[in-house]
Amino acid sequence: MSAAPSPAVSPPEPCSRVAARLAEALRHGAVITRSEELKPYECDGLSAYRATPLAVAIPTSEEEVAAILKVARETSTPVVARGSGTGLSGGALPLTDGILMSMAKFNRIVHVDPLARQARVQPGVTNLRISQHVAPLGLYYAPDPSSQIACSIGGNVAENSGGVHCLKYGLTVHNILRVRAITIEGDAIELGSEALDAPGYDLLALATGSEGLLAVTLEVTVKLLPKPELAQVVMASFPDVESAGDAVANVIGAGIVPAGLEMMDKLATRAVEDFVHAGYDLEAEAILLAESDGTREEVEHEIAKISEVMRASGATDIRVSSNDAERLRFWSGRKAAFPVVGRISPDYYCIDGSIPRGALSHVLKRTEEMSGKYGLRCANVFHAGDGNLHPLILYDANVPGELERTEAFAAELLELCIEVGGTITGEHGVGIEKINQMCSQFGSAELVQFHAVKAAFDPVGLLNPGKAVPTLHRCAEYGAMHVKAGQLPHPELPRF
Ligand SMILES: Cc1cc2nc3c(=O)[nH]c(=O)nc-3n(C[C@H](O)[C@H](O)[C@H](O)COP(=O)(O)OP(=O)(O)OC[C@H]3O[C@@H](n4cnc5c(N)ncnc54)[C@H](O)[C@@H]3O)c2cc1C
Repeated sequence: MSAAPSPAVSPPEPCSRVAARLAEALRHGAVITRSEELKPYECDGLSAYRATPLAVAIPTSEEEVAAILKVARETSTPVVARGSGTGLSGGALPLTDGILMSMAKFNRIVHVDPLARQARVQPGVTNLRISQHVAPLGLYYAPDPSSQIACSIGGNVAENSGGVHCLKYGLTVHNILRVRAITIEGDAIELGSEALDAPGYDLLALATGSEGLLAVTLEVTVKLLPKPELAQVVMASFPDVESAGDAVANVIGAGIVPAGLEMMDKLATRAVEDFVHAGYDLEAEAILLAESDGTREEVEHEIAKISEVMRASGATDIRVSSNDAERLRFWSGRKAAFPVVGRISPDYYCIDGSIPRGALSHVLKRTEEMSGKYGLRCANVFHAGDGNLHPLILYDANVPGELERTEAFAAELLELCIEVGGTITGEHGVGIEKINQMCSQFGSAELVQFHAVKAAFDPVGLLNPGKAVPTLHRCAEYGAMHVKAGQLPHPELPRF
């Protein structure tokens, strides 16, 4: 099988002409071209990589999105859609010769149907706002990334985002019904339907997690769930991370599916406790937080079962939240953990890989060994129940060589995820960050098919090019399948 042929594109037009055409196309939206105003758009949450786009376009209507895509098409200029820029894999990193299209003005909740338990929302609406908006109806939107106060539903769809409650309620893909989008060619498409099933191929699932490579999302229909009568959290302390890892496998093995099952190691609990005062056991090498929700009887029964399994797996202390304020306090440290590690390290690098739950204790042990090998501290805070790891490597970008060692550490960890039968991404996407490891995860035949899917939606290759799916040429160069220290995912991108 050969690689998908590159479509013929005309040479790009000078930046100033593209910006002028954008300004002509937008009647109400804004076009930013001044270098100091472009600065906030230079990176997403993966701030080690930055690039200045030739212009930022901020459309206010679907007509303006179509007009921007028309300019892009006619001038052969790449376009990167951006939600809130909280992505951690560089998905919304601009291209220096491209337009960055911010969807921030698409921030309306269009319609709520409490009977059907659905809401139609624009892509720039933040994840948390949906739940806040429908709370008076006794409803909520289940996927809850820790960034939910800021991240947009358009970004959630593009990354197939998860969160604490996804163990029981599923990822974004399981909680949306329909996406309306526009292709680079200006065609409006409807993926899925507001009924429970849609005819034809499941293109909604294909588009969810496609990292802005296939189309620009204009509207999302999300499912809403009734708020459970009661929720309680078990907080269990463990003398080592391995026994905490085993406890996770044992809980699931006992047939329990908690509403959330998260782990934090000692480095993480110590970092967050001073800030959030969640009441974590600072002597424990690891703590587990397991939530149960449902009717009062269901919760009582499940909490007792979870506590029993935790104790049998070696828990040294178990506490159960006695009211909702305490439950939220237990979660507060977990939710704030990523930014809060900034208190103990100038920089951190958040990795996202998934592994079979049974491999947890092995992978945590290997992570500790790698931490010693690279001479870098690593805090573990993660969705343990889903086997979705988030090792946070702590480094100082101002110390020569530390970022390079961090990248090599991260690459080795991702290769370990593949080795134990897992994947290189759990919920943060591939972006530019993990593009080399895609070459290890997939063979050339699969990558060729991924390019064919992209070409079916975007034959001119202008939507977020260079992200998520590596070229075969790149994989051939990566060859040895191991990143060498200092090797950038994109050597041409400046690093700060
Ligand atoms: C502190 C912190 C905690 C986090 N916790 C979690 C977590 O628990 N779970 C989790 O899954 N993630 C988490 N993330 C990662 C991030 O918040 C998610 O990936 C989120 O979905 C990104 O949304 P965004 O609006 O910021 O998207 P952006 O970062 O702006 O973009 C992400 C991708 O979506 C594409 N995109 C955005 N909008 C559109 C659109 N309208 N049409 C087409 N493509 C689009 C972009 O091109 C890009 O590829 C966390 C991030 C931070 C900083």
